[in-house]
Amino acid sequence: MHLLGVIGGMSWTSTAEYYRLLNSEVARQRGGLASARLLLHSVDFAKIAALQHSGQWEKAGELLADVARGLERAGAEGILLATNTMHKVAPQIEAATKLPFLHIADAAGQRIRAAGLQRVGLLATAFTMEQDFYTGRLSENYGLDVIVPDAADRGEVHRIIYDELCQDRILDESRQIYRRIMAELVTQGAQAIILGCTEITLLVGPEDVSVPVFDTTLIHVEEAVKFMLD
Ligand code: GLU
Repeated sequence: MHLLGVIGGMSWTSTAEYYRLLNSEVARQRGGLASARLLLHSVDFAKIAALQHSGQWEKAGELLADVARGLERAGAEGILLATNTMHKVAPQIEAATKLPFLHIADAAGQRIRAAGLQRVGLLATAFTMEQDFYTGRLSENYGLDVIVPDAADRGEVHRIIYDELCQDRILDESRQIYRRIMAELVTQGAQAIILGCTEITLLVGPEDVSVPVFDTTLIHVEEAVKFMLD
């Protein structure tokens, strides 16, 4: 089994879910006591979030590139960055090592295209919904037409991620807000919803909306396990 290097902690609540899913998927495929061979470098998210919100992406990218170098030195054979938002600095991380980098938007884009869907709603941090690094990749490489909530609802989705989900607070009232926002995206023609932030799966799932859901945490894990067991 290939040794996977995971850059986590963004936030720790979703990294815990990654760890659980990576192990349960390896166990499901291999059976018995099989479990995931991985190295996890979990960062202090307070530092990363401060850099994000002050627009210091280059500095955040350098920090994560250093983490990737450390994982390579420690023997990792591939890199998994366990957050959608920080894929904004994926080029810096990819350039830091010679290792394969398992891009989360590619994992999602391939899945959605294989399902024959085109118009998709995206729930994610404001950075991911509003900047081009993620939606641009989905439209240019996978021909997807990505729609996002209006400004007020983007603010709500973002607030719930940082103030609640990243701090291990799962509230039913926020689940209702996400349900309403997803239903509105469906009304606007979304044929599926991308849970494009790795904590959102802690709050909502396929049972909360009438169209298929593409959960980036789960999809990313499945791609990682393919790599590990290849
Ligand atoms: N984990 C989240 C994501 O997938 C948000 C936290 C972050 O900014 O990394 O985008």
